[in-house]
Amino acid sequence: AFDVLVVGGGPAGAAAAIYAARKGIRTGVVAERFGGQVLDTMGIENFVSVQHTEGPKLGLALEEHVREYGVDIMNLQVATALIPAATPGGLAEVKLASGASLKAKTIVLSTGARWRTMNIPGEDTYRNKGVAFCPHCDGPLFKGKRVAVIGGGNSGVEAAIDLAGITAHVTLIEFDSRLRADQVLQDKLRSLRNVTIITSAQTTEVTGDGARVTGLRYKDRSTGAERSVDLEGVFVQIGLVPNTEWLKGTIGLSPRGEIEVDARGQTSAPGIFAAGDVTTVPYKQIVIAMGEGAKASLAAFDHLIRTAPA
Ligand code: FAD
Repeated sequence: AFDVLVVGGGPAGAAAAIYAARKGIRTGVVAERFGGQVLDTMGIENFVSVQHTEGPKLGLALEEHVREYGVDIMNLQVATALIPAATPGGLAEVKLASGASLKAKTIVLSTGARWRTMNIPGEDTYRNKGVAFCPHCDGPLFKGKRVAVIGGGNSGVEAAIDLAGITAHVTLIEFDSRLRADQVLQDKLRSLRNVTIITSAQTTEVTGDGARVTGLRYKDRSTGAERSVDLEGVFVQIGLVPNTEWLKGTIGLSPRGEIEVDARGQTSAPGIFAAGDVTTVPYKQIVIAMGEGAKASLAAFDHLIRTAPA
């Protein structure tokens, strides 16, 4: 059995594995796709102390660093069930889609999250070519340009306020007849001169010239009229979905499906910790996921040295 089994091989999982392995304890990582969301990212300019890197390069660096410590990496393996230890000090179990099962004294869950997409023509074609999901990451790339934010919830309105300070103009598009964000955010948004808010609008297509985004089309849901907006960027803010479907009913999840953790990454089940985008910790970023992964791993080690075997 592993002392620490990490489920998920993104920045959080890699940090957790390195911190555990450096304690000289038996560490394993099981990941559907080692590297995680980082592999889908082009330029990364906010990974502190590295001015610019690219996702695949960082993904490879994560894997090399983890391998250096002799961590058992089980890539391309999907976890389908978690069974916490029946007794204090007992072993927890993770079942895999392959039919295999892994046992460990402690577990760090770091299965990350995925952005909800619009599933309309052009969205995928122009991903990283004008279609973006993270204003903290890609906002500065659109300095002085025109962008749209899709989604009028808190994250959409926050993104629009953020982007209004960087870009020339922001069009916020909401499907519903009214914005759903907190009133204080809506008031702030409405006070900005370079923002246009369009409600009751269904985005139907992201348009481009083959190389980059040039605009979007939407349907006015009250009149049925088709309209278009010329712009250079589209930020999709219609939700971040945590990869916790396989954990429902086993550990405490928030109403949004995020794993509830305390300041040490402890979940509702003893010996089970969690870190990164999959948790309730706010602001989903690489540096934050790494810090949380390190923290959860140190908490798992602390748990190990304080718990007598069952
Ligand atoms: P993830 O990176 O999501 O990793 C999750 C891991 O778990 C993966 O290995 C996955 O395969 C695995 N997994 C999931 N489910 C299972 C399962 N059931 N069984 C086994 N394994 C499973 N952040 C920045 O700081 N700067 C940026 O510039 C930036 N740009 C981004 C651009 C894009 C397009 C995207 C999508 C995200 C960007 N982010 C950026 C956000 C950043 O990538 C995430 O915050 C970070 O990757 C979260 O790390 P994580 O380890 O928590 O999760």
